[in-house]
Amino acid sequence: MKSHYRVVVIGGGVVGTSVLYHLAKMGWSDVCLIERSVLTAGSSWHAAGGIHALNADPNIAQLQAYTIDLLPEIEKESGQNIGLHMTGGLTMAGTPERWEWLQSAYRTFQSIGIEDCRLVDVEEAVALNPIMSGDGLLGGMWADREGYIDTTGTVHAYAGAAKKNGATVIEHNRVLELNQTLEGWQVVTEKGTINCEHVVNAAGLWAKQVGRMAGIELPVSPLNHHYLISDTIPALQEIDFEVPMTVDLEGFTYLRQDQKGVLLGIYEVDHQHWMMDGAPWEYGFELQQEDPDRIERELILGFERYPALQEVGVKTWVNGAFTFSPDGNPLVGPVPGKRGYWSACAVMAGFLQGGGVGKSLAEWMIHGEPEADVYGMDVARYGIWAENKQYIKETTGQFYTRRFVMTYPNEQLPAGRPIKTAPAHADMTAAGCQWGQSWDLEVPLYFAEPGFKETPSLKRSNAFDIVARECKAVRENVGLLDISGFSRFEVTGDGAEDWLNTIFATKLPKPGRSRLAVALGEDGRLKGDLTLFNWGDGTWWIMGSYYLRTWHMRWFNDHMGANVELRDLGDEVAGFSLSGPKSRAVIERLSDGDVGVLPFMGCGAFDIGLLRCKVGRLSVTGELGYEIHCRMGDHATLRKSLLAAGADQGMIEFGFNALLSLRLEKSYGIWSAEFTQGYTPGMTAMDRWIDWDKPAFVGRDAALAERDGNGPAQVQVTLEVDAKDADASGYEPVWHKGEKVGFVTSGGFGHTLGKSYAMALVNADVAAQGTDLTLHVVGVERGARVIAPSPYDPAGKAMRA
Ligand SMILES: Cc1cc2nc3c(=O)[nH]c(=O)nc-3n(C[C@H](O)[C@H](O)[C@H](O)COP(=O)(O)OP(=O)(O)OC[C@H]3O[C@@H](n4cnc5c(N)ncnc54)[C@H](O)[C@@H]3O)c2cc1C
Repeated sequence: MKSHYRVVVIGGGVVGTSVLYHLAKMGWSDVCLIERSVLTAGSSWHAAGGIHALNADPNIAQLQAYTIDLLPEIEKESGQNIGLHMTGGLTMAGTPERWEWLQSAYRTFQSIGIEDCRLVDVEEAVALNPIMSGDGLLGGMWADREGYIDTTGTVHAYAGAAKKNGATVIEHNRVLELNQTLEGWQVVTEKGTINCEHVVNAAGLWAKQVGRMAGIELPVSPLNHHYLISDTIPALQEIDFEVPMTVDLEGFTYLRQDQKGVLLGIYEVDHQHWMMDGAPWEYGFELQQEDPDRIERELILGFERYPALQEVGVKTWVNGAFTFSPDGNPLVGPVPGKRGYWSACAVMAGFLQGGGVGKSLAEWMIHGEPEADVYGMDVARYGIWAENKQYIKETTGQFYTRRFVMTYPNEQLPAGRPIKTAPAHADMTAAGCQWGQSWDLEVPLYFAEPGFKETPSLKRSNAFDIVARECKAVRENVGLLDISGFSRFEVTGDGAEDWLNTIFATKLPKPGRSRLAVALGEDGRLKGDLTLFNWGDGTWWIMGSYYLRTWHMRWFNDHMGANVELRDLGDEVAGFSLSGPKSRAVIERLSDGDVGVLPFMGCGAFDIGLLRCKVGRLSVTGELGYEIHCRMGDHATLRKSLLAAGADQGMIEFGFNALLSLRLEKSYGIWSAEFTQGYTPGMTAMDRWIDWDKPAFVGRDAALAERDGNGPAQVQVTLEVDAKDADASGYEPVWHKGEKVGFVTSGGFGHTLGKSYAMALVNADVAAQGTDLTLHVVGVERGARVIAPSPYDPAGKAMRA
């Protein structure tokens, strides 16, 4: 064994071997995989081997599509048979809501380029899978690229192809210890010590312990999972094709053919965690005892859906564990604060997603960024709060149980909540606040009468009128919004200005001013749509999306300058914003300072009632507005003072649902919708905020190349939509004369203008105002047209008033 490699990958399951393969394939051949036992000795050997394209998260669906295309490639490259059976697949819906969702999901797949799907009626579905009963089903979706593989063969194919590209695989060698060094990591193994620059945790069921070796608490837990393999089914002997991989969403089961029997897998409603602190080191090719009683309900549904199962016996039971993160997506990427330590774990469906995980991680390590926007699986999407065991237990359990249960966009799930509440939480709850969760924090959605329950829906819900009322009050009078759910970073030190000038492409605000600020990656793609405050006393604030706190902090720290002090104020500072034409009258009553003459985008420190606050004159609603930041402990007092001062001004409290509607009427983009790390300044009109005269900033060369090139192929537009009872929400395809020309980034109802709007990325040649387009809203095609941005107050007079 060599004593030095550039990268050591820990774990020889499907994920570790895929990472190894991609690193070697992309040119890093000085890489080695260390496996405790033999390849496949974790979850990988006993997986059902199913591969399918459908996933509710479009980014994860793309990852799966990449993996499915890769499988035949690695078979060819390695010469190792992977037993690929591309049977095609069916996903069946058994309730009207699910059928509606499936039709909508079908359009999402079209949006993201997964074209080999189509909707099928029950008759056709039963013809495609003749052992399936159509009882109670309403329709389904067929996908060409679904089927199953031989799991052991696939792991060996990744490893074999990696070795052909120069990588090394060492089996029967457990990693015992990890020590950080100046260069990277010292990996202490049973067979000796290796020094390396990068270490990858691909330890699957043991990921928790391999994290702890480096002082990292990963939010991951194993859960048990059952499948059975039936005896021979006579009906399958009579047909000359294999039945497709079939998912019965309402039955919590998936099925594929296994020789002349079937494999039936069950997502257990009554879920069961297993070894939350990681599997025992000696565990390997064992399984857990099957527990049919615990899964009786799902088994009954399965045996009814496939009646032939009632006639034959069960040949084999498998009850094995695999790992989940709180939202079910993998944990991938550089672990914040641990230079050279990479996570490639919590991959729930390694045979489906492992290819995409390996590709993204290898690109990230080699080029500094993955090609795709992988925020959805970035390990930095969680913070320290997610290390809590009870949180991990509740959320992973909820995800598992709901794996095949529909979650509506307006649905609030209970697991792992509440964690953090701002101090005014109890008073706001008493005032009718309905809460959502952003990261660890409870954030206000809207204020309703006591006893109000929102109906989960893909369409407009029964909260529609409540949100409309809040929007109207903001536009006509004044509204109060709890903005504890913004991130705030404090930047100080002699090097602060130089550093900010480097990481932001925007001109810095003068003392006493704030400014929208764009951060770019080295490749010129977006890294942040932030707001910069220059408080005038050598202190700067960066403000942005609360849920990106760790993600942004990692980026800042990776690009840190000299003599700069950076602090995340997210747990120290809270606040409220006032918006609406009467907001000045309210704030002036509480201060004898010059707060009333603050110019648009001005900022400063003021007395507000009994409190000392930082105030910025800006708002996301497009109205005259103030963002008032206070110490966390002052939050409840600030609210009371503001409510008292606004009592005779028609002031109401409002939530983020109204804010989303109001910002849409202004065509203000938001992160994770209009802005992502997959898009460029030119596509999103963020180039307006770039200071091209600045000699240097991160991403400058790439941004200049875009500016001086032929222009982006797709650009952001605002659409007015002929919607009826539902609005666009995101990823719906946009059509022009029958041809797909883009997709919706976000949408909703503009309550004060009484129209449905969407923002979309469309081909530049259909972006002109007045162009007629169509888009699918909850599966139904609706007319739409490109309009000028900011349908409300395009000249911005209200916010500058
Ligand atoms: C019953 C069941 C059915 C499933 N069906 C499917 C399916 O149909 N499709 C699908 O895509 N997925 C399926 N899965 C999930 C799939 O098995 C996992 O997603 C996948 O195996 C995860 O692979 P991995 O490489 O992350 O982890 P693992 O396979 O657990 O591999 C981790 C490896 O790391 C090694 N290791 C750990 N610690 C150390 C150490 N300290 N030193 C050296 N080596 C170490 C272990 O020995 C192990 O080999 C199923 C899982 C189960 C349980």
